Order: sequence, then C-alpha cells, then structure tokens
Amino acid sequence: MARVRAATDIVALIGEHAALKRQGRRFVGLCPFHQEKSPSFSVNAEEGLYYCFGCQRSGDAISFVRDVEHVDFVEAVRRLADRSGITITEDAAVTAERQKRNPLYDAMSDAVDFYHQRLLAAADGGPARDYLRSRGYDGDVVRAFKLGWAPSGWDALCRHLKVSDRVLTDSGLGFVNRRGRRQDAFRGRVIFPIFDPSGKAIALGGRILPPGAGVLSAASDGPKYKNSQDGPIYAKRRTLYGLNWAKSDIVGSGEVIVCEGYTDVIAFFGVGLRRAVATCGTALGEEHFRVLGNFAKRVVLAYDADAAGQAGATRVYEWERHHSVDVAVAALPAGADPADLARTDPEALRRAVADAQPFLRFRIDRVLDAADLRTNEGRAKAAEAALEVVAGHPDALVRDQYLMGVADRCRLEATSLRRLLDELVRRGPRDSSTGDPATRGRPATNGQSHDQRLAGPGAPAATNGERSGRRGPAGHDGDAQRAGLEALRLLVHRPESVAGRLHPFLFGDERHRAAFVALSRAGSLHEAIGAAEEESPDVAILLRRLAVEEPAADADDVVVQLVWIASRRALAGLESEVRLSPGSLAELAPVTARVSRDVQELEDRERASAASQRLVAWLVERGEENA
Ligand SMILES: [Zn+2]
Repeated sequence: MARVRAATDIVALIGEHAALKRQGRRFVGLCPFHQEKSPSFSVNAEEGLYYCFGCQRSGDAISFVRDVEHVDFVEAVRRLADRSGITITEDAAVTAERQKRNPLYDAMSDAVDFYHQRLLAAADGGPARDYLRSRGYDGDVVRAFKLGWAPSGWDALCRHLKVSDRVLTDSGLGFVNRRGRRQDAFRGRVIFPIFDPSGKAIALGGRILPPGAGVLSAASDGPKYKNSQDGPIYAKRRTLYGLNWAKSDIVGSGEVIVCEGYTDVIAFFGVGLRRAVATCGTALGEEHFRVLGNFAKRVVLAYDADAAGQAGATRVYEWERHHSVDVAVAALPAGADPADLARTDPEALRRAVADAQPFLRFRIDRVLDAADLRTNEGRAKAAEAALEVVAGHPDALVRDQYLMGVADRCRLEATSLRRLLDELVRRGPRDSSTGDPATRGRPATNGQSHDQRLAGPGAPAATNGERSGRRGPAGHDGDAQRAGLEALRLLVHRPESVAGRLHPFLFGDERHRAAFVALSRAGSLHEAIGAAEEESPDVAILLRRLAVEEPAADADDVVVQLVWIASRRALAGLESEVRLSPGSLAELAPVTARVSRDVQELEDRERASAASQRLVAWLVERGEENA
C-alpha cells in the first residue's frame, strides 16, 4: 500500500480529473469533488496528499481513486499499482476483477496498433489511405490520432488478437456469430481510436469509405459511423473523444470546444485550436459536463447552427449553474461542419470560435434573424417569440438585459415588453427544472471563506512586535489557534526547526494537541494520519490539511508565542488558586512573580529564548504535579 502510494505521481493522477497549477510548493486547482469558481483544492506532491479548503475533502492517491472512480479500497490500490507497474499480492476477488478489465485494455491497445499498422502499410489499406489523403489527412495526422484501417475480411483482427470469446465481446472488438464463428465488429472502416483522458485506448469509432472508394460494399455494411458499445472499460455518456490530446490546451486556455464528430476534432487541431473534443455517438449530457467543468470554465459548442439551436435550453442552463461553466455557441454557417470549413476557410472557423456568443444570445438572434422586422406587426410578433426564449433563462437580471436588446431591435418600449416577459415567466417554463429564479446565481459554496483561507493558510502567527501589550482576552483564543496551527505546520514541513521545543501542553486546542501527539509518535506524516484515522478522523483531516499548507512564520517566534500563551493560561490558573485559598499566597507569590517576569522577558528578543526555556521547564513540572 505504502509502496503503491509512493510510486504514484499524485499530481499527474489528479491532473487527469482537474486542472492543477503550481503555487509555491503546492499545486492548486478547482476541486473535483465540489463545484466552485475559485480554486480551493490543494495538493502536496511530495507527501502525496490533498485537501480542499472548500468541502474539506482530503486524502491520498488511494482515496482519490476510490472517490473519483467509485471503486472500493482494494480496487483503488490495484488500479494505482497498475499505473505504476507494481505487482501486488491480491486476494481472489481482486484477482478476478483484474482478470476482467486488464485483458480488455490490452486487447484494445493491441487492436489499435493492429489497425494503425494496416492503414500505414498494408496493401488493402490503399483505398483508405487515398480517401484520407483526399480529405487532407497526411501521415502526420494519421500518426497523431493513431487512425487505423479495419480490413474488409470477417476475422482479421480476431485471428491476430487470439483472446478469449469473453474478452472479444466485452471489449466490443468482435463477437461470436450464430454459427459459432468469431467475427470482427469493425470491417471495411477507417478507425478512430478513442482514449480515456490518461491516453489509454478504450473504444473505437469507425467510418465506412464513401461508395466507389474501391472497397467491396458488402464488407462495409451498416451506418456511416459506428462506435463501440458501452462495456466494462467504456461508457459513452462520460467519454469525450480527443480529451487526452486536448487536455493541456483546454487547461491553459480555460476553454473547450465541443463538436459533433471525430473529424471535427481533427479539423480544429488542424487550424491550431488544439482544445476540441467530441461526444461519441451520443448527445452532450450531464456526465460530460462533470468532466469538462473540471478542466475549463467556458464551453464553446461548435455544432452546425441548427443543431446548436436545438440543444435543450433548459438543460444547458442547468449545466451552466451546476458546473459553474459558461456555454457559448460558435455560429457556423448553416449546413457547414467544422471539417468542411477547416478545408475551405480555416480563418472563418477560427473566427467562429473567437466570436462565440453566449447561448441565450445565440438563440435570440436566431429568432430575430428569421423574423420580418420591417413592419410593426412583424416586430411585435418577433419580440414576443424572442421573449419566449428569454423567459426560459432562470436569472432575472440576465433576462432583463436581454429584454433591453430585444426592445432595441424591435423598436419597442422596454417597459411594455417587461410586462409581457413577467407574464411569460409567471406562466412558467414547460420544464419545471428551470423554474425558480432564486435557485440561479452563485453556486452554494462558501466561496468567500475559502478565498480567505486560501489567502492565509500560512498566515503568520503574530510577530514579536504585535505580541506586546495589545492582546486582550478576546483575541486570545484566535491567537492560540493560529499559533497552534502554525506550530503544527512547522512540525510537518520543517520538523528540524521546532525539534524538541514543542510539548503537548503548549497546544490549548484539543484537536491540535491530538495532531501534535500523533505526529510526535509516528515516524512519518502518513503513519500519523493512519494512526489518527482509527481514533479520530477529524485529526486525520487536520493533518492532511496541514500537509498542503506552508508555514509562513519563523519557528522561534511561533514557539515563543505558544509558550507565552500557555504561560499566561497557567498564571491565570495560579491566580485563581490563590483566590480560592488565600493561605497559599505566601507559597505561590514568588512563583507568580518569577513566571510573570519570564513572561515579560518573552517580549525582549535578546532574552526570549532563555525565558522561554525556563517557562517550558516550569510548565512541564507543573503539568507533572497536576497529573
Ligand atoms: Zn472541494
């Protein structure tokens, strides 16, 4: 387990699900576990730990895989071991699961290579090569996207793969026909391999050659495009073709272009927009947005105009809200797909993306463009139709802005349109899920508080100067908290700086004390977390949070401050002892005087260290007496 954790590059692992940027010694990004607009998710690469200041999720590589891929602990360990090429001893259940999936990945990868080689070199791949060349695909494109050629015969791949019937069927690469013969699923097709975000082949898309391209038509039967069926390693509803190649550009630009097909993705790459992805034979849906929302905040739909206009508005607004993304539409000329445009007018394709309009604006424009705005009657009708569209948007402020635009274009009074719009909104959308305007707006994360916490994870404990005099009892708890946390950060990140100078009684907060004890007993941060996990999960979470925070204060200052706070607390205890039994005054007065003097000397840089040592000795002694 520890070996698997140590061998895993947690930044690369998490980077497959969320965009991370280096910030000092940490990596930060938008949390893959909750919706947010400003990053509160932090990763400590060296320790292999993450912590979210927004939702407080925390853990290591194993818990990350468990939560993101919804698998159990054992399966998570196995997948990580796979990634890093470690062999682990497994129980029977794990072995069974491994035996099910791994051969599927292997077979798929083998098939991709097989088809790719056929396209590059085999004699029967000639017509496919000619066809691709005619579409402007040179050898570089073929290699970059690992395109392939599935020969027309019945079982060329089956014979090459030599896998079990089960693997053949589960991978979607072939099937057993009614006469019990094994048969290839893809025949006489150009192959577009589909990869997961990490670059593992998981499925295939295949396109038949156009008639007359020199391939027996009987072999390339069925629809123009054909895709692998869902199976143990492939789910259409969350797969995006091209994401493995587009990932870094998407993260860098904050924008992802979603188009309809494999060739569109390749076309966008061809004109330098290396951030395009496509759904795989299914409509863009909730799970795709969950994936996209982790990488980019702006989603540009590059469909042909009719298809974009028909995208379910209600669902688009829902996605925008749930995943904190903005959906825009790149208006392509009607009937033109990106692949055509890339060939005929690449500049127009780039411009369409640069000029992409917000989804609502695009829909309103379509209504108004189709209307007759030359007559009064025409403008009134157009305004009403446009307001129907506006009324579907869940945010009142957004609606009002667009209403002004409609009023302008239709040369009508905004006030009278407002009455009509209110009525349309009241009448309600046909779909209940957009209804309540109040549900629209800022996502329900406590955004402000994480920003603050992010700004100050290592907020320095008060400096020596601030410590003098101004501290009232009110600020006391907060200071003790801050100093305690800072001391723990030092202990995690620079243990040598506080070695031997910290003691349990210096931590007023119970959770801080438990974290200190766990850290001092354990040989490593991970051991401490492991130990804490059993007894108090709260402490384990605190330790993971400390791992992603960096200490900002000087160790001497922090120790002195902790001693100051603990001594003051002890002094107050002494004073109340005296009040309770005045007879003890004679005995305690010298102690109180001495301790008070030492506490004062803590303010003096020259004498602070010696005073601090005396006070610690006294606190230890007192702790032993009281124990
Ligand atoms: Zn979170």
